[in-house]
Amino acid sequence: MRVTLDWLGVSTFRLVVGDLTIFLDAYIDRVPAAPPVGMTVADVTQADFVLVGHSHFDHLWGAERIARRTGATVIGSHETVRLLHDKDEIPEAQLLAVAGGEPIDLGSGVRVRVFPSLHSCIWATMAGAADDPCLGDLGIAHQERALRMARGMEMLHSGALGAEVAAHMHESDRLPRGEGGALAYLIETPAGSILWKDSSGHWSGILRDLRPDVALLAAVGRGNVDGEPVQGTLAGFVAAEVELLRPGSVVLCHHDDWMPPLTQPLDVGPIRRELAQRTPAARLLEMGYLEGRRLFD
Ligand SMILES: [Zn+2]
Repeated sequence: MRVTLDWLGVSTFRLVVGDLTIFLDAYIDRVPAAPPVGMTVADVTQADFVLVGHSHFDHLWGAERIARRTGATVIGSHETVRLLHDKDEIPEAQLLAVAGGEPIDLGSGVRVRVFPSLHSCIWATMAGAADDPCLGDLGIAHQERALRMARGMEMLHSGALGAEVAAHMHESDRLPRGEGGALAYLIETPAGSILWKDSSGHWSGILRDLRPDVALLAAVGRGNVDGEPVQGTLAGFVAAEVELLRPGSVVLCHHDDWMPPLTQPLDVGPIRRELAQRTPAARLLEMGYLEGRRLFD
């Protein structure tokens, strides 16, 4: 069975398994200053399912238009489904709310297993480079975390990062509840399995020994390990995830320059070196946008 993977920027992928088209997140249309990914949401004419990792704008926005145009079923958290239903008027029949633990039959011999996951600590201090260590911010109460998050979102909306960012946020952001709970998905195809996680966080007891053939892992920000910010580097965090999962191949995502001037392109060199040292059995596949990479050759 032919399985191809296109990276469409941030954590968004198009996975084609035989005759089945599955979008992983749906954020394709970005600020004008971001490098183009080669297509827009308006170009999507075929989709059977959209899996959404969490309901932040840079993951969910686009799912409503893809669902409307293609009739695809969207699978996501209860908050993701609430937003699509209540704000975008996507019919209930096209929505599947999950929280982790659900095996979902996508047809064509493909099954998805949903797992609870964690969002990266965007409220905590973040390092610039992937090999810059970052320490502290432990034991901070949720109320304080939420306050810091609200300040960050206010900065994006206020125009402090320019009018284009503010206009983009106005169009794409769905306040007030933000991420709505993060999920990880294990997609089991007749040719092999793919674990996809769209934010740098995890419950270590859940990831341990899932053993996917391919792991698509977000490499951005301050990693979240079992609810607390990682004490160390982003490269170390990604390597720890690969150690837990033990995949055959790794594809990184969310490390691109998706919203300048908030973001910068990340040098993946330190992650490449850390993986080569700690998890040499896992092959790092470095992907560009819209490559149509064939998996499981
Ligand atoms: Zn997010």
